[in-house]
Amino acid sequence: AKARGRGAYQLFEPEMEEEARSRHALEHNLRGALEAREFHLVFQPQVRLESSELTGFEALLRWKHPSRGFVSPAEFIPIAEENGLIVPIGEWVLRTACATAASWPDVTVAVNLSPVQFRARGLAAMVTSALAEAGLPPQRLELEVTETALLDDSEATIEILHQLRALGVRVSLDDFGVGYSSLSYLRKFPFDRIKIDRSFVGTLGESPESVAIVRTIASLGSVLGVETTAEGVETEEQLDFVRECGCTAVQGYYFGRPCPAAEVARTIETLNAV
Ligand code: C2E
Ligand code: CA
Ligand code: CA
Ligand code: CA
Repeated sequence: AKARGRGAYQLFEPEMEEEARSRHALEHNLRGALEAREFHLVFQPQVRLESSELTGFEALLRWKHPSRGFVSPAEFIPIAEENGLIVPIGEWVLRTACATAASWPDVTVAVNLSPVQFRARGLAAMVTSALAEAGLPPQRLELEVTETALLDDSEATIEILHQLRALGVRVSLDDFGVGYSSLSYLRKFPFDRIKIDRSFVGTLGESPESVAIVRTIASLGSVLGVETTAEGVETEEQLDFVRECGCTAVQGYYFGRPCPAAEVARTIETLNAV
């Protein structure tokens, strides 16, 4: 077994080296990406179910790598979180999102916050300054946090969430249901919105368990007075499902893919016309 293990290790090694090299190269490029203006934001519509009205957009980060083309945030954000670059990148995202949204009619912009940004100092001060600089009313900013932000230093993070809330911004709990302590965080902080992870929405058609889970989260939200957004709604069938489950809002390809800032106005017109 030992000999085989060693053989397997030797076979595996070049692949691991290759992976490490590619990650290293990506990290190197990431360091210069802000200055080289390789980032931009796209915006995905969020719709209230009861009135079918567009209520806002989630800002999503895009990186156009000079030679590799678009790199998925799922690939580069973990790297940026590991080396701390997510702090300046996240600040750029927030400032750009607020400045962009300031020219929109009365709809919100939702911005994702990394747990690493909570550990850096001065998050609330930075949000205050981004709002002021953009001239965006705090009620039009929503901040999305995942439970991983609350995991490692829950007390300190909750304190910062209260500071953010005191500014007048809204706070959402993102990717709800995939972590193991989502429920306990609902008790620790009064979130304005729960976003139900798209892994549940995507399996509503074939999994009675998913239906039960989405229904339970929606009624939990209703009892707590918290909005529940179903993420990843792609089809009319899924839309009917989440409506029937009692979700109050949706986001997903069915209503719109993330679009560049220049197309936001047209998206608002189109969606409000239906
Ligand atoms: P997320 O916050 O859960 O964002 C939703 C993701 O689901 C986005 O992927 C969006 O494009 C995708 N999506 C929306 N509707 C549908 C649908 O109907 N079907 C499918 N298959 N996908 C849908 P994206 O833009 O690739 O972002 C992936 C993740 O990267 C985000 O997940 C978020 O965790 C992270 N991310 C993106 N932008 C930022 C950012 O500015 N800061 C931080 N910290 N994280 C970000
Ligand atoms: Ca999000
Ligand atoms: Ca999510
Ligand atoms: Ca996610």
